Amino acid sequence: MENEQNKPFIYDFTIDQIQDWIKEQGEPAFRAGQIFDWLYVKRVGSFEDMTNLPKPLRDKLNDSFRFVTLTEITKMSSKDGTVKFLFGLHDNHAIETVIMRHNYGNSVCVTTQVGCRIGCTFCASTLGGLKRDLTAGEIVAQVVQSQKLLDPEDERVSSIVIMGSGEPFENYDATMNFLRIMIDPKGLNIGQRHITVSTSGIVPSMLKFAEENTQINLAISIHAPNDALRSKLMPVNRRFPFEDVINACKYYIEKTGRRITFEYALIGGVNDRPEHAEELASVLQGMLCHVNLIPVNYVPERDYVRTPRDDIFEFQRILQKNNVNATIRREQGHDIAAACGQLRAKHMETTTG
Ligand code: SF4
Repeated sequence: MENEQNKPFIYDFTIDQIQDWIKEQGEPAFRAGQIFDWLYVKRVGSFEDMTNLPKPLRDKLNDSFRFVTLTEITKMSSKDGTVKFLFGLHDNHAIETVIMRHNYGNSVCVTTQVGCRIGCTFCASTLGGLKRDLTAGEIVAQVVQSQKLLDPEDERVSSIVIMGSGEPFENYDATMNFLRIMIDPKGLNIGQRHITVSTSGIVPSMLKFAEENTQINLAISIHAPNDALRSKLMPVNRRFPFEDVINACKYYIEKTGRRITFEYALIGGVNDRPEHAEELASVLQGMLCHVNLIPVNYVPERDYVRTPRDDIFEFQRILQKNNVNATIRREQGHDIAAACGQLRAKHMETTTG
């Protein structure tokens, strides 16, 4: 059994990597495409089911790789169609994945790490620190499992947001492999422009991402209009200061010609005053960007209150008056208390006593 645990997950591999392995086995290259088809189009759960592969190849696959097993610990469905999963991993860690229904399609929010070490003060995911990185395959499996849930309705996953627990740019290689697998035309074939990766502002990875030559969207969790306040809300700002993050965004825009999204969680009385909106507008003015205002979810462990509705609209109005494009994020799954990290935090409480 120990041997089994040491095998890599088949979902960890891009089609090129599978092709390299196939060649090493002396098999024809087209087998890689067939394997990808079984994994992501037919979505089988064992090598034995890949019936157009010769039996010796199926056996070799079985000896070399394993499937990710995501055990459904909890599945909560909201009135608005949002489904929130708490999945158990092979080593007993738990992760969250969310399916959101929009009128333009189904979006899946994936997790990239077990826990998170970034320490944003409004987030439940970081309360127990970082346990470990997920492999690319463990991120892929979240989408495959979501797609399987949609299969009986003949619906498909049409967009992906990397905004669940964890900092994807601190698990960069796995995140990039995950993205390559998602956009592969032979696999799930998700449009690049329908994928968004969100970072707390890990500057070296942002600069690297600018060079990747993709159409994938980049979102930055900014949450404050200046260095001092951002450091209070997001300790990561002491590692990568506000100004460096903004400069990295400008570099990304210049390099890719793509618009950046700034995520701004409004916290009552902390970062939601009109002067904060004015200051944010002065920083972002003239940038090819868009601000997504998010009324912060109540996290019982923290002391934050929600911004009153009128103040949210006022914040948006000030940004727009200064020609900074801003929208207010529509909340989903509110009736299942499904803020990021809360389900897992609850689960940890019950399993660790
Ligand atoms: S908001 Fe994201 S980066 Fe910040 S602590 Fe939570 S999971 Fe980590």
